Amino acid sequence: MMKKLVLIAGLFCSLVMPSCKQMSVEKTSIIPVPLTMDLKSGAFVIDERTSLWIDASEADKNYLQEYLAASPLNLVVTNEEPTSNAIVLRVVNNLPALNRQEGYVLTSSSKGVDIQAQTGAGLFYGVQTLLQMLTDGNKVAYGTIIDEPRFEYRGMMLDVSRHFFGMDFVKKQIDAMAYYKLNRLHLHLTDAAGWRIEIKKYPRLTSFVAWRTGKDWKEWWNGDRKYVDEGSEGAVGGYFTQEQCREIVAYAQKHYITVIPEIEMPSHSEEVTTAYPELSCTHVPYKQADFCVGNEKTFEFLENVLLEVMDIFPSEYIHVGGDEAHKSSWKTCPLCQTRMKKEGLKDVDELQSYLITRIEKFLNKHGRNLLGWDEILEGGLAPNATVMSWRGTEGGLKAIEKGHRAIMTPGEYCYFDSYQDAPHTQPEAIGGYLPLKKVYSYNPIPDTFTSEQASLMVGVQANLWAEYIPTKEHMEYMIYPRILALSEVAWSAVQNKDYEDFHGRALKAVDELRTKGYHPFNLEKEVGNRPEAKIPVEHLGIGKHVVYAEGTKYYSGYPAGGDDALVNGIRGGWNYSDKLWQGFLKGVDVTIDLVKETNIQEVNADFMQICGPGVFMPKEVIISFSNDGKEFTELVKLPHEVVRDDAVTFKNFGWKGTAKARYVRYQASIDSNFGGFLFVDEIIIK
Ligand SMILES: [Zn+2]
Repeated sequence: MMKKLVLIAGLFCSLVMPSCKQMSVEKTSIIPVPLTMDLKSGAFVIDERTSLWIDASEADKNYLQEYLAASPLNLVVTNEEPTSNAIVLRVVNNLPALNRQEGYVLTSSSKGVDIQAQTGAGLFYGVQTLLQMLTDGNKVAYGTIIDEPRFEYRGMMLDVSRHFFGMDFVKKQIDAMAYYKLNRLHLHLTDAAGWRIEIKKYPRLTSFVAWRTGKDWKEWWNGDRKYVDEGSEGAVGGYFTQEQCREIVAYAQKHYITVIPEIEMPSHSEEVTTAYPELSCTHVPYKQADFCVGNEKTFEFLENVLLEVMDIFPSEYIHVGGDEAHKSSWKTCPLCQTRMKKEGLKDVDELQSYLITRIEKFLNKHGRNLLGWDEILEGGLAPNATVMSWRGTEGGLKAIEKGHRAIMTPGEYCYFDSYQDAPHTQPEAIGGYLPLKKVYSYNPIPDTFTSEQASLMVGVQANLWAEYIPTKEHMEYMIYPRILALSEVAWSAVQNKDYEDFHGRALKAVDELRTKGYHPFNLEKEVGNRPEAKIPVEHLGIGKHVVYAEGTKYYSGYPAGGDDALVNGIRGGWNYSDKLWQGFLKGVDVTIDLVKETNIQEVNADFMQICGPGVFMPKEVIISFSNDGKEFTELVKLPHEVVRDDAVTFKNFGWKGTAKARYVRYQASIDSNFGGFLFVDEIIIK
């Protein structure tokens, strides 16, 4: 009910007083933007006599006091409720203006700053707002801010397996996460590239497979992919001791952040099946990523590991991975086959589901809930599981339809390992193009959702996979400022979001982050999308009909809008993931019918190359014309040597001259040495 009132107030503000939002924005740079702000002229000035009084549980009081002691504010802690010149933080039984436990009401007046919340977390977020409101280091504008998060789960995932950066790096990111009101840190602790958490029962996980030969993941992955013993010459890697994990958990807790550990199963476990080969189907080290699901020893291992993990991490959720299992060895393994028969499982998908469901029971028995990547839907979802949707939004939406909870991390909006600007201006990334604006544009809840469905959408998370990120500075470069956009997606009300406004605040935040010793992307120098993609191109082919030669139709996953996409005038951006590039697995062979004989002076098309995901330039392009659509005259043949490289490149293949024709045929062939995709955005005819 109260929420409605707030909404109406917001509406009133935007309809009747279009300038009121801008006025308050000028005064503050708060990220994420609060629910309502009513700021007035004048400010409370914090001086050396300003006191701090906290009325909350002992634990919250300690956390908040410690936090503020380390902040730039120099406050005098008092045990008596002050009447003036004070910052007062108070837990109250209810705040009628708010629906969420993490909400707060901040009031600044001549008497001081008063923050009320129903929980310690709420007070903590009020404090973040207070810190972000400060001008000249000590002034807090008069007025009232009423604020609460849109989602309860506001996360970031760090992949500490592919490259390992230790505890202090994690703590530093926790500091920034808290400042921007994020509250879940998901640590991807295990993967082929290295096991990163001490498990007392299985010492080889850290004395051996936490260490490898190549310093950079890429060098190691493209090289021998071998593990080496801890302390041996050239060993690179590392792990968190259990003591360090506890320290991270405690540090996060003081910042009202929950750390969610991820232990991968049944796949992405090459390191485990090399350290303990009896856990794979073949018992051969360096052979399998998958655990043997038929072997009871696998469950003994996983449960023992999870017991130690649960003892360290008090989180509701334990993430079990579940993504990208090969499942191939299960098809021939006698133990796996026996298990399938005994349990009446009809395929290997159901065998994976058997493992996940059994592990879920184990976690539930210990009072925890299972969280997994959307592949855990395959073969049947475990009864109480929460799905983390990464292959688009479909998995999350499907889980919600079945009454399960979901956390959204779709690659298109949430994968911070993608390029954040024009690839030629950036360090090598795994691919993709995810600028700040795109992250910001994400709205996890579709319009079609009922309020019940919306309540199952518990939140949103950014994922930073680290394959191509070999240094700490580079990690931060990929995180900031995009995580600020994610924080506004996760916290702020949709009606308060405005990219232009956010961009201004993000520019200031980037400066502030630099001052604090972070290494953000240079937002002020952002180049933006590929120039061609910014405005449609006019040409003779627009609106005409495209005929694909037999067996060369575009791949169904990359239609770029379908049969007429190559002549719709819309050009693609820095990556095919924008769905504006048409993808071909068998070469391009298209004919465009211009309806009547036409004078033609130019035919050309752009291709892109990104070797990582298997996107290559054509080996040869042939352009030919015809007047009857049957007999074609070749006008140009353009051979091209395909060369593998690390860059993202674009190249135009075209013809110029004079000709008169009704039909234009454009052919591009794939170099069989490389295979993969050809991507074209438009065939331009002038
Ligand atoms: Zn097996």
